[in-house]
Amino acid sequence: MKHKEKKLLPWREVYAINREALCLLYREYPRMFQSRFLFAVWEALSPYVGIYLSALIIDELATDRDPAALIKLVLVTLLTEALIALISSYFVTWRDSETAGFYYKYQQIFTKKLLDMDFASIDDSKTHERLSAIIEYQNSGGWGLFRLFISTQLLLQAVMTLVGGIALTVTLFTRKVPPEAGRLTVLNHPLFLAAIILVMVAVTYLAPALSNKAWSYFSLNAEEHRVSNRLFGFFSWLGYKQELAADVRIYRQDIICEKYNKDKTGMFGSKGFYAKLSRGPIGLFAAASSAVSVAFTGVAYIFVCLKAWAGAFGVGAVTQYIAAITKMSWGVSTLIEELGDMRNNASFMKMSLEFLAMPHTMRQGERPVEMPKGCAYEVEFKNVSFRYSGSEEYVLKNMNLKFRSGERIAVVGQNGSGKTTFIKLLCRLYDPTEGEILLNGINIREYDYLEYLGIFSVVFQDFRLFAFTLGQNVAAGARYDRNRAEACLRRAGFGERLNALDLGLDTYLYKELSEEGVDISGGEAQKIALARALYKDAPFVILDEPTAALDPIAEAEVYNHFNEIVGDKTAIYISHRLSSCRFCNDILVFHEGRLIQRGSHEQLLADGGNKYAQLWNAQAQYYKRRTRE
Ligand code: ADP
Repeated sequence: MKHKEKKLLPWREVYAINREALCLLYREYPRMFQSRFLFAVWEALSPYVGIYLSALIIDELATDRDPAALIKLVLVTLLTEALIALISSYFVTWRDSETAGFYYKYQQIFTKKLLDMDFASIDDSKTHERLSAIIEYQNSGGWGLFRLFISTQLLLQAVMTLVGGIALTVTLFTRKVPPEAGRLTVLNHPLFLAAIILVMVAVTYLAPALSNKAWSYFSLNAEEHRVSNRLFGFFSWLGYKQELAADVRIYRQDIICEKYNKDKTGMFGSKGFYAKLSRGPIGLFAAASSAVSVAFTGVAYIFVCLKAWAGAFGVGAVTQYIAAITKMSWGVSTLIEELGDMRNNASFMKMSLEFLAMPHTMRQGERPVEMPKGCAYEVEFKNVSFRYSGSEEYVLKNMNLKFRSGERIAVVGQNGSGKTTFIKLLCRLYDPTEGEILLNGINIREYDYLEYLGIFSVVFQDFRLFAFTLGQNVAAGARYDRNRAEACLRRAGFGERLNALDLGLDTYLYKELSEEGVDISGGEAQKIALARALYKDAPFVILDEPTAALDPIAEAEVYNHFNEIVGDKTAIYISHRLSSCRFCNDILVFHEGRLIQRGSHEQLLADGGNKYAQLWNAQAQYYKRRTRE
């Protein structure tokens, strides 16, 4: 794999991205951030109280040794520490309760976006590519929005640690060495002080900078990392996938996995990309960073000890300065590390922010769809052509047609002729690439999007039911009209099976949410989906291959009762089996994305050697041959 040269984002952009991400997460979960931030401030500042009081006790022991003063100091220290411990545990409990389900809450941000997104965006492979990149970066390196919860807390903790540390160490620089210290009075010289501060700042900058350099190898190579992680995940989890178990065995696909799992030169192998980097620059920078960190503490210790030796302050102050400097050294390195980490993470957060900001291109209209009672709906396709995003090929071409409410329409044609796409355009799951669709003479884009969706009940070929109860599935809601749900199930041909279920409408489908759940066959699922479409009671009922999974008897039942099932609704019935559409008085024949014929079954057959007749004869022959056999 070739590794491209990549660069980190400029600081100005890093700031803007982190700010935007923080505002977004804060808006969603303000209390979680408040609890974490308060905890961070408390965690940073409270230890300094103990350090200060301990220094006073040590000073008292080293100088006056006054028992009354000592008792007072010890009591104050004990009480203060007890109070700090109490408040700390309150903050921990508050933070933990606000942070419960932390990862789930974070996921909710994406779930909400996905549920709210235009169907066309969801169905676009680019959307999936973007989402899976976000998830894979999250899983492979912990990159993305999620990291901000932790890095902002650490950043604040580091800043507050520095504030507290500076407050306790100001006197280290202001307390003078007495003149009797001789040559050591040089420690009072402003230039010496400046040099010491400079060395300490340089050292504290260098340590995290080196460590960030080591880490940047991971973020800059995250793309390759992600692809390898995907392969690694796929092959190492293959055995866990029940749906693949049969094929893996029949075709011995475990052998392919072995090849990948044992490959030492892969991204994560012992002779692979990261192993080489770890033995080389990553290891070198990380080791240098640790060495420089130790140097900081060393320089600070020498300075404090020299000033104490020269008589600038006593032993209590020594402990105070040393403890404060040790904490500050953590503060400085954490501050710089977190800033570096935020810079490394910015490009990953940018991906998430762009994903979450994807616009609703379909929700523009505001016109209500509701028609006055007794008013008919009329739908017109005017020169409609359509191609899926990312594809050059037109799936529908120059479609012109009209239909009115109450009609029974069948759409027939070979697989891939554009029938389902036609329905998706009608329901405005996609907008036409060219031309327009009118409802009662008005472009459907002008209607309120959700209201417009509400006038269709569709059973798609690849419909899905949920692991809720039967009744909730039919009503698509938690509370529902039980009589209506039952009536719809019976109309859809599910009556007999319903009678056999002990818990009736309260029976869970599948086993995910209840051990008592029932597994249903494809045909039964199709009937439930049909009942769901009927329960919605929308003016248009669209059934896409609704009998594909039914046995011949159940299929005949649906045909025979079709008029009863759909009642006074407009019914659009899609099938590539022509025999199942004979009862519709208006048949649309699709071929390669065009409407090539329209009429009743008899009219279309009478036309002679056309597409409908060809398809009809081909299928009729098959049935005749099957009957003879
Ligand atoms: P039918 O319902 O008649 O079988 P479809 O409308 O499902 O036909 O499909 C028509 C054509 O559009 C097919 O060539 C199919 O591969 C293509 N197609 C369907 N869905 C998508 C999609 N989401 N993205 C790209 N192409 C698609």
